[in-house]
Amino acid sequence: MFDKIVIANRGEIALRILRACRELGVKVVAVHSEADRDLKHVRLADESVCIGPAASADSYLNIPAIISAAEVTDAEAIHPGYGFLSENADFSEKVKQSGFVFIGPNAETIRMMGDKISAKRAMLAAGIPCVPGNNDPLSDDSKKNLKLAQEIGYPVIIKAAGGGGGRGMRTVHTEAALLNAISMTKAEAGTAFGNATVYMEKFLEDPRHIEFQVMADSHGNAIHLGERDCSMQRRHQKVVEEAPAPGISEAQRKTIGERCAKACVDIGYLGAGTFEFLYEKGEFYFIEMNTRVQVEHPVTEMVTSFDIVKEQLRIAAGERLSITQDQVKIQGHAIECRLNAEDPRTFMPCPGTIDQFHMPGGPGIRCETHIYNGYKVPPYYDSMIGKLIAHGEDRNSAIARMNTALSEIIIDGIKTNIPLQHDIMNDSAFAAGGQNIHYLEKKLGIY
Ligand code: ADP
Repeated sequence: MFDKIVIANRGEIALRILRACRELGVKVVAVHSEADRDLKHVRLADESVCIGPAASADSYLNIPAIISAAEVTDAEAIHPGYGFLSENADFSEKVKQSGFVFIGPNAETIRMMGDKISAKRAMLAAGIPCVPGNNDPLSDDSKKNLKLAQEIGYPVIIKAAGGGGGRGMRTVHTEAALLNAISMTKAEAGTAFGNATVYMEKFLEDPRHIEFQVMADSHGNAIHLGERDCSMQRRHQKVVEEAPAPGISEAQRKTIGERCAKACVDIGYLGAGTFEFLYEKGEFYFIEMNTRVQVEHPVTEMVTSFDIVKEQLRIAAGERLSITQDQVKIQGHAIECRLNAEDPRTFMPCPGTIDQFHMPGGPGIRCETHIYNGYKVPPYYDSMIGKLIAHGEDRNSAIARMNTALSEIIIDGIKTNIPLQHDIMNDSAFAAGGQNIHYLEKKLGIY
């Protein structure tokens, strides 16, 4: 195991990684921006290094500053968390070239999966079902594009090959709107992702978002840890996640999960990863792979009693997977509510000082957050300030526990989305389970 690592992230995930390091006896270097001196994990870390001003581009995305921090503190590895540089192939490569271990897959894998077209191609080759589409960059040939859309059948969706975070896609319902949608998505993709390549696939009208968690070691072993349902979304961003996905049979879990694990072996995958699918009328369609730990990893941890972050560290240190597929058992049900510093109705971010924070508790409750009394939520970063996870013997008991926890938690001083989460937990359609990705927006009246 490593002696010391750098955590190249902030907020709740940095604290989560720090806790895993503590359990494994690994020392922690926290790197932080000037705005983040008071972050909880910075205070708890063995060492900390300020890597730049508040703006992410100058700090959490500043590759030379992060690598220098690893150098001056004599660390051995760098954990990127999620977001920021976690899926940046150049970062993975530079970390390695500088003599450190990147806790995640190698640069080639990140590059392949970061381009949604090459990812789909690799998945098709590995026998993973994908959304029907062209799987080639769209040319400027209008006639060809119109013909392609006709073949796929409307509605279609135009997606940026390098897109992420729910941005860079546009749904097209009619032929009249197609060409304009292609050029607009191209232009946006070029500006937002520095890559104007777009592709076309079938727009599924009634899908759920179901994803499989995988872990692969450097000895040719890979397992899956079952699936999560992340269909409660707003603007393609997840709001509530759960495991297992309601209504998915053990046989489906086994078939798709094992194909994902096999695909990991085929592509030489390393570490934790997620295969994201749209699920419609009993069929799974791959949309993309996330090559990092995800925000929603705790729901999988709760139902499998398996620590994904500790395993990431072990795998990066060259150890073999600590369990086999047969040892993976799904027990009970877990739900995660993301807690955001935002207005629950307008969704406007709402940074500021937290006057009072009371953590909820009780059986099956897990609260992943870096906030504390007096903590100032800065305006510079993502508005997520924590996650509440409830585990129960079945889905109803997980919902009941989440409801209790949401009524217990107190975050005063800033607005949060707790009222919205409470609403969702008391929604009869949510209680029934298996709603599609549009359900929440319809409920909110914005779809
Ligand atoms: P990102 O990398 O930005 O998260 P994804 O490819 O994972 O993009 O898609 C994010 C979300 O966009 C999905 O969860 C789904 O809600 C919607 N989406 C993407 N592709 C399709 C599709 N072919 N049909 C319907 N919805 C889609």
